[in-house]
Amino acid sequence: MDEKNNANEQINTSSGVGNFIHAIIDKDLKDNVYGNRVHTRFPPEPNGYLHIGHAKSICLNFGIAAKYKGLCNLRFDDTNPVKEDTEYIESIKRDVKWLGFDWEDRLFYASDYFEQLYEFAVKLIKKGKAYVCDLSAEEIRQYRGTLTEPGKESPYRNRSVEENLDLFRRMRAGEFPDGSRVLRAKIDMSSPNINMRDPVLYRIAHVPHHRTGDKWCIYPMYDYAHPISDALENITHSICTLEFEDHRPLYEWVLRELEFPTPPKQIEFARLELTNTVMSKRKLRKLVEEKYVDGWDDPRMPTISGLRRRGYTPESIRDFCERIGVAKRISKVDVALLEHCLREDLKLKEPRMMAVLRPLKVVITNYPEGQVEYLEVENNQENPEMGKRLVPFSREIYIERDDFMENPPKKFFRLSPGKEVRLKNAYYIKCEEVVKDEKTGEIIELHCTYDPETKSGTGFSGRKVKGTLHWVSAAHAVKATVRLYDHLFLEEDQLEGADYIEWEGMYLNKNSLEVLESYVEPALAEAKPESRFQFLRHGYFCTDISSTPDNLVFNRIVSLKSSYKPE
Ligand code: ATP
Ligand code: MG
Repeated sequence: MDEKNNANEQINTSSGVGNFIHAIIDKDLKDNVYGNRVHTRFPPEPNGYLHIGHAKSICLNFGIAAKYKGLCNLRFDDTNPVKEDTEYIESIKRDVKWLGFDWEDRLFYASDYFEQLYEFAVKLIKKGKAYVCDLSAEEIRQYRGTLTEPGKESPYRNRSVEENLDLFRRMRAGEFPDGSRVLRAKIDMSSPNINMRDPVLYRIAHVPHHRTGDKWCIYPMYDYAHPISDALENITHSICTLEFEDHRPLYEWVLRELEFPTPPKQIEFARLELTNTVMSKRKLRKLVEEKYVDGWDDPRMPTISGLRRRGYTPESIRDFCERIGVAKRISKVDVALLEHCLREDLKLKEPRMMAVLRPLKVVITNYPEGQVEYLEVENNQENPEMGKRLVPFSREIYIERDDFMENPPKKFFRLSPGKEVRLKNAYYIKCEEVVKDEKTGEIIELHCTYDPETKSGTGFSGRKVKGTLHWVSAAHAVKATVRLYDHLFLEEDQLEGADYIEWEGMYLNKNSLEVLESYVEPALAEAKPESRFQFLRHGYFCTDISSTPDNLVFNRIVSLKSSYKPE
């Protein structure tokens, strides 16, 4: 390989097991189709933020480049100025980098090729392979025929080369209004493949472009610009999703007619679909516009920026993309697998802290007033290398409201009147008295006693207790806002008893966000935005980007319990 090593190589995106795309590339290398080159690209249209489906494509394309010591370009497919925006360009670059991939000096824009694309169109006209057509969009649709009926030839199909060249030049010069004329490929109106029935190559749109300004008023269609962009960048394997399978003959036709000597090869794979969410940019934009979510990076969104804000790691997303693999058949992946990958990634990496999400005060009546003990606690029991910290214990603590029941059912092993439980890393306590609000009857605090003999870590192994509760010392606790998330959408079999809105044929979960005022242990007071923790018994959390020491905000990434069952 004469290509320089690239940074993406350090990322293990390619398991030992090859996929069908690897098999195609292996064969091309063996047959010397592109010499020893492997060159892929990731070609987003800058009309929205990237989502987890794009992550699959990114991992695949950059992963192949890494596996074969080849290259992968980032190319903005910016041929439709109406829907595109520079805000999206910046977000896409940030997301690809965050996922851990590097396009080095190979950042391209389809709009950089507008002049060449125009020249190639002139070449097609001169070969008698393209013509200017004056039919309206509606007429073109009518003439196109159907799956069962052939199309009809346009009355403009047999214009002379000279007339076509003249009209095409004048289209570019801005002489004609939007929609009045198009340039079409001259292929076959009776082809069984509708994409081959003289597809449109250029349309008129008097719209400024975010990169080329007012220079152009004709814009190339995707099916025309894409193969040429690939060829100009010396791409060898142009990987795309299955809906382009029927477009492949056109991809090949364009490159053949333009006489590229070793044209790139289009390979299709099944797009990622995930349960409990949507994956189309149009719908994601609609969710933002209709304010069902708080922007593209709302932690409930399946966008890369949403997952990042939620607290997902790039490692967990790459692992997920690796595990789902690539196939030719679409199957919906359970979002529980993505959550499983996150837990696996964080399990040994993040400290395990105590946070009481719905607090209930406990007064330990026989604990000396004003006394504070600093208990030594392991940061992560499964990973001793993470060291220890000191957690204050005192006479008043908070426990979780759910961890107490006044009239418990039989199998309730947590706290109830007269019962004893273990406080994690501290002592056993026994509930002696329930204090209620006189007017409302609401439980406002518990009075308990502790047994000084039961201190954790001192070798006490006397009587057994079944429940272990987490807690925080009331005098040392730090207030924090905690956001708990549930899926944005519900699947059909999850609707019973759920609160939802029907939206775009799907079921939008009305309870996807719950905001709590909670208490966390003092070690979390200085938690920096975007740091992650396990909160004992509650799951993995990430400090929100908006969080400050005066106003701590934690997002739950996932709970600890997994509904994922490995097959
Ligand atoms: P959407 O339908 O969500 O708008 P798109 O395909 O129009 O997506 P592009 O910006 O054109 O979005 O996509 C860039 C690349 O990402 C393409 O190669 C596309 O095939 C791939 N891609 C898009 N969605 C998925 C997905 N769900 N799974 C895998 N790859 C995807
Ligand atoms: Mg697209």
